[in-house]
Amino acid sequence: MVHAPPLSGRPTWLEIDLDAIEHNYLQARQAVAPATALYPVVKANGYGLGVLPIANRLLRAGADGLCVATIEEAIQLRQAGISQPLVLLSGLSAGLEELVVSYRLRPFVFDLAQFKPLSQAARHQPITIFLKVYTGMGRLGLLPEQLPEALQLVATLPGLHLAGLVSHLACSDQPDHPDNSRQLHTLNTLLQHSGLTHGQTSLANSGAILARPDTHFAWVRPGIMLYGASPFFPANHGPEVGLQPVASWYTRILQVRSLPAGTAIGYGQTFVTQHPSRIAILPVGYADGYNRLLGNRAQVLLHGQRVPVVGRISMDSIAIDVSALPDVATGQRVTLLGRDHQALITVEELAAWQGTIPYEIFTNLGERVPKYPISSRTC
Ligand SMILES: *Cc1c(COP(=O)(O)O)cnc(C)c1O
Repeated sequence: MVHAPPLSGRPTWLEIDLDAIEHNYLQARQAVAPATALYPVVKANGYGLGVLPIANRLLRAGADGLCVATIEEAIQLRQAGISQPLVLLSGLSAGLEELVVSYRLRPFVFDLAQFKPLSQAARHQPITIFLKVYTGMGRLGLLPEQLPEALQLVATLPGLHLAGLVSHLACSDQPDHPDNSRQLHTLNTLLQHSGLTHGQTSLANSGAILARPDTHFAWVRPGIMLYGASPFFPANHGPEVGLQPVASWYTRILQVRSLPAGTAIGYGQTFVTQHPSRIAILPVGYADGYNRLLGNRAQVLLHGQRVPVVGRISMDSIAIDVSALPDVATGQRVTLLGRDHQALITVEELAAWQGTIPYEIFTNLGERVPKYPISSRTC
C-alpha cells in the first residue's frame, strides 16, 4: 500500500513513513525480553502524525495493544475496527464509567473514589483496570498509603479485574538520574506489599525501554521513539540511537521575487534585506504548527541546501532568503522537516530552534496540514 501525495490540494503536507514506524517498533521489541509485552502509545492522534495508519501498522507489526490518553481517542480506534486491548493512560473522569465499560477500555485508576462507580458500571460486563500508583512523578496516582484500601475495594467490589500496578518515570530522558532508581525501588516495595509481584506491572516509556532494562516489568509503553525522535533529547538525535525519522514536512514556493537592499520583510519589519536579495514566500505558518518562535531563527532545505527563514512567522506564510541559490522558482518543493538530498533537518533541530521538545513539534502540527502515510510495502 503506497500512498503518494495527490498532485492537487494544499501544497503544504506531511509524509508519514510507516516503514520507519515499524523499524522503530522493532527497536523497542529488541530492547525488551521476548516475554515483555509492547503497548505502543498513540495518544494525541498518534503524537500528531495521524493515528489510524500508524495504529494499524503497529498492530500488524505485532503490538499487543495500544495506549491512548482519552476516551475519545480510544473510541476513534474502536470505531475504526481495532479490537485489541486499549489502555487509558489518563484514566477517566466521573460520569464516563459506562463508556469505558461498553468500549472495553482498560483505564489507569488513580483515585479511591473511582472504584464504586466503575464497579457499578461493570456489573454486567467485567472491566480490566490498572492501579496507577504514585512513585515520584508528582502527577496522577494513588499514594502508597492508599494502596491497601484500593486493593481491598478491588477485591470486594464486583466487576473489577485488577491487571496490575502501573507508574510513570519523571526522568527517563536522563537514564542515570537517581530518581529513576528511587521510583523503581518505590514501585518494587509497593509490589511486595500488595502481593501483586506477578501482576501486569508497567513502568517504562521510551527512554526507559532503551536505557533501563531494570524498569521493563511485564509490559512497556513506547511513545516518542516510535515516531523517530530520541527520548534522550537534547543529548542526541533519533538516528544516533538507531531510530529512523518518520515525519517529513514539505511545502512549495508560492512566490519568489528580487528585492532591493533595505526591504523590510513581514510583520514588525524584524528583518531588513542588507543587499539586493531573492526572497521566496512559502504557504505555511503558525496555524500549521510552524511556530512563531522560529522566525529569524529556523532553516529550511531547498535543492539540498540550507536557507534561512527571515522575518516573523505569519499565520499562513513565511519568507526564506534564497539569494545564495540559482534557479529558484515558484512551485519548487521546500523541506521544513526531513531529508533533501544530503541535507537533513531533524525534529530535534526544529525543537531546539523553538526552545521546546520533539513531542511538541509533532503534536502542534496543524489540523489543516494533510498527513499522507507512505510505505514501500505492497500488501
Ligand atoms: C505519553 C506516555 C508514555 C509514552 O512516553 P514516551 O516518552 O513518549 O515514550 C508512557 N506512559 C505514559 C503514562 C504516558 O503518558
